[in-house]
This record gives sequence, C-alpha cells and structure tokens, in this order.
Amino acid sequence: MGKIHALSDVLADQIAAGEVIERPASVVKELVENAIDANATQIDIVVEESGIKKIQISDNGSGIAPEDVKLAFQRHATSKIYRREDLFKVQSLGFRGEALPSIASIADVILETATQDATQQGSYLQIKGGEILVEKAAPSRPGTTITVSDLFYNTPARLKYLSSLQTELAAISDIVNRLALSHPAIAFSLRSNDKKLLQTAGNGNLQQTIGAIYGVQNARQMIQFNGQDLDFKVSGYISLPKLTRASRKYLSLIINGRYVKNYQLTKALLAGYGSKLMVARYPIAVLEIELDPLLIDVNVHPTKQEVRISKEAALAELIEKSIYERLAQENLIPNAIVNI
Ligand code: ADP
Ligand code: MG
Repeated sequence: MGKIHALSDVLADQIAAGEVIERPASVVKELVENAIDANATQIDIVVEESGIKKIQISDNGSGIAPEDVKLAFQRHATSKIYRREDLFKVQSLGFRGEALPSIASIADVILETATQDATQQGSYLQIKGGEILVEKAAPSRPGTTITVSDLFYNTPARLKYLSSLQTELAAISDIVNRLALSHPAIAFSLRSNDKKLLQTAGNGNLQQTIGAIYGVQNARQMIQFNGQDLDFKVSGYISLPKLTRASRKYLSLIINGRYVKNYQLTKALLAGYGSKLMVARYPIAVLEIELDPLLIDVNVHPTKQEVRISKEAALAELIEKSIYERLAQENLIPNAIVNI
C-alpha cells in the first residue's frame, strides 16, 4: 500500500490559515475586506484583549443567502470570481475563498447574516475548529456580523509567538486605519475593550478621514495633489515638509481601493520631496492610484498586500513628478532662513 494520502479539509484549512492568518490583525483585515466587498457603508469593529479573546465585525452590506452560508466556509469557495480570465481583472479585495475556512479552522466563529431582501430568512452558523456546532435560521436583519473567539486555541505555537497585547492592538489599529483611508465613503468604527479608537464619518471626504486618523490639525496642513498619464491616475494628500514623522508608517499607498506595500512607489513619493525633507524624517501622505486592473497582479501572496505592477517605473516617475510639481507651487520657506 502507498504512503501518500490527501489531508483532511480541516487540516488543509489550518495549513492555509498559517499563511493568511498570522495574527489577530489578519482576521480583522480579512473580515473587513469581506464587508467592503459586500458594499457595506458602515463597518463596526469591536475587539477584546487585542482580538485574541474576541473580534466582532458588523456590516450593513449584502449579507449571505441561506443556501450560501455553509459554502462560504468551504476552501476556495467564493462569489467574487468565476473563470480564469477574472483572475487578470480582479476588482474585489478578496477572491481566493480562503479567509473564512482558515479562520473557522483555528477559532470559534459565529456568523449571523441576512440579505437585503426582507422576505428572506436570516442565518446563524457556529463553527469551531472546522466543525459546525450550531446551524439555524435567524432574524432577517440585513447585513453580516461575524464574531471570532478564542483565536489560535488549537494552534498553541502561533498563540505563543504573538507579540505583547499592546503590539497586537497597534497592528489592528494600523490595518483599520489603512482600510478606512482606502474607503472614505465607508463609516468605520473601532472599539477595544469599550474604548473607542476610531470613528470615521464615511462621507467620502479623504481629508476628513485623514483628520479622524492623524488629527484634524495635521489633516488641515496637508495639500492635495493630482497627476495623470495614459495608464495611471494618482491623487491624494501629502504633508508639507515642515510636518514630518520619524517613521514611514504614516505613508499609505492605495491602488484601486486596496492598501498595498511597495518599496519602489514609496521611494518615488519621497523622491518627490527632493531635498526638502530632513534626514530620517518622513511626511504623512495618502496616495491613491487608479489603474486598469489588467496592469496589476494581486495574486502574489495570500495576504495580497504585495502586488506586481506592469509599467511600475513609469508609475514611479509619475508619482515623483506630480508631488515635486505640487510642492513647487507652495511658497516653502527654507529652514536656513527660519533659523536666522
Ligand atoms: P473571498 O473573500 O476570497 O471570496 P472568503 O473566505 O473571505 O473568500 O469569503 C467567502 C465568501 O463569503 C465571499 O466570497 C462572500 O460571498 C461571502 N462573504 C464573506 N463575508 C461576507 C460579508 N461580510 N458580507 C457578505 N458576504 C460575505
Ligand atoms: Mg475574503
């Protein structure tokens, strides 16, 4: 008899979870992205003990129909892409169908959901460690609430290697901030152990969203910029060289509504300041990039924060030039003169 056998679904899900769900902040990211993909206009996030004890995310989005509820927890089951060609023009934040099964394999998950159709029953489903514990009909309240408890209860190594509660909470706060910056038309709230950490208005105004996150005074001191070529449109808000921080953490790159990390494009943003920044100081900036989805490959890494962009060099040049030209319009007083 041979030695090779297929792994059970739950084990396969746990292995996928190892890549997608590194820490509590990853759960928050995946669930909020699902709410965004469901066209929610309000997303409320509550965490307890930095998400290890509990993460609850409520949205007023499309909800899940009763016949789809169990499918949502199956690996590689998604409503977002259908065929191979779709992979080359992904518009949604999710598409791999991995988040829900991964999370449900390493935590206790309760899903309460109902579609916008008031005549249709809602659903309640509880899954722990990949096993369905409760499955029943629920009130027809449109939208979705997912409650994740006891994260990593069956993966002790992962639990053990988490950072301090404070660091894990900072990671949650950071990802929620970036998601809120990427979607100014959605009202986000974040609470931790009953303390309100964030509330955005959701009125579509990016500068106001920046104010809710980095402070109204700072947001007022930032200037808007725009640029365009045949392939790319760039826009956003940048701080003047006098408003800087000691870390790059306050820079956000958003491509077609997805917060991404990209070294080359960040470098271009900073290059746009020329020699106006002091050594080891960085501006606050939110840079939105719009491009044809055909020009970007988001299927590089399970978390999708790393992307590949065609014509990246041309995009970098456009970013640098747009920022340089915008700053040149400001009457900046050189530090040397101020110091006299
Ligand atoms: P993906 O987002 O890659 O499709 P997920 O495992 O994150 O995979 O979710 C599986 C499916 O469950 C989604 O395709 C979507 O149809 C549904 N879903 C998940 N969360 C929500 C939500 N908050 N509102 C509506 N539908 C949801
Ligand atoms: Mg998803």
